[in-house]
Amino acid sequence: MKYSIVTFASHSALQILHGAKQEGFHTIALTIQGTEQPYKSFKVADEIITIKSYADFFAIEPELTNKKGILIPHASLIAYLGIDAIKRIKMAYFGDRTILSVEADRDAQMAWLSEAGLHVPKTFNTPETMDRPCIIKFHGADGGRGYFLAKNQQEFYEKIGTNPLKKYVIQEYVVGVPIYIHYFYSPLTDEIELMGFDRRYESNVDGIGRIAFKDQMGFAFETSYTVAGNTPLVLRESLLPAVFQMGAATVKASRIRANQGLYGPFCLETMVTPDLNFCVFEISARIVAGTNVYVSHNPYSYLRYNEPMSTGRRIAREIKTAIEQNQLEKILG
Ligand code: AMP
Ligand code: AMP
Repeated sequence: MKYSIVTFASHSALQILHGAKQEGFHTIALTIQGTEQPYKSFKVADEIITIKSYADFFAIEPELTNKKGILIPHASLIAYLGIDAIKRIKMAYFGDRTILSVEADRDAQMAWLSEAGLHVPKTFNTPETMDRPCIIKFHGADGGRGYFLAKNQQEFYEKIGTNPLKKYVIQEYVVGVPIYIHYFYSPLTDEIELMGFDRRYESNVDGIGRIAFKDQMGFAFETSYTVAGNTPLVLRESLLPAVFQMGAATVKASRIRANQGLYGPFCLETMVTPDLNFCVFEISARIVAGTNVYVSHNPYSYLRYNEPMSTGRRIAREIKTAIEQNQLEKILG
């Protein structure tokens, strides 16, 4: 019986399932009631299993194991099933789960990135120590929801009002251009691959420029960072050596923090400042939705593979290679 690639139907599931089919796997989409239509329409799933809620996953887990299922994690799994539940999953799981706990804790994330020698924004432990404009971010993968800006401690206390119970971080606001870097690290070949770049389209920060400053002055809105979509991007070529170096350093530094360390797809979220430095403000230790922009055509993975290679397909290719080489344990965590 052949292996099945299983994923929850949201976030990057279309490309995960599509890529798995390209590599010859049986594909299973787990849908929550009412979300089936895109997965039927795009015909990426050989099977659609519908459950009422994410928590019902554990009821169908034995069936998925019987089907030789390998579960591919993404942000929706983390957001809706949660990291503690993910740790209880018994079926085959792609990636090192221990690294997700690091990803979910912004302090641990920043320590990891700093140890890798990457340039990170300054963090302020208390509002009283703020000496520049900051962005206040809550813990967890929630696509920027609820973040706000504060120029000083007074503005911080005015705005924190409704969210005081959630864990947050006060981070220097970096003015530059946002560039999200997509990598894939293969423990089978010990190679860092560059899968491309994207930029996020966030509401309302990306819409404010449509309003003239004189009109903005009359509006009482707050700047917000809720992600709504993504757009592709190519990077100035002379910056690529730094990109590879940052990816390699991140993987190396992960090994002291997690069982096997970071492998598979990951993303460094950066601001490129006018002096052409990458300031890394976040890491995602799994596939990110920005890779959805490159299902059929990705300039970087095309250069590497000479065929369309989405990140979803790259995951499936890694699993296929591991099966062929009898090394599956190296990529299941
Ligand atoms: P959803 O399934 O769309 O509700 O998303 C689940 C989680 O993934 C949420 O925390 C979202 O903010 C995050 N997410 C979904 N799509 C994207 C995206 N295009 N970029 C960044 N985060 C995303
Ligand atoms: P994150 O949840 O860390 O991915 O942040 C969501 C969005 O907030 C990013 O895509 C940026 O637009 C913005 N952002 C986050 N951190 C910073 C920062 N330190 N400086 C400027 N903008 C930021």
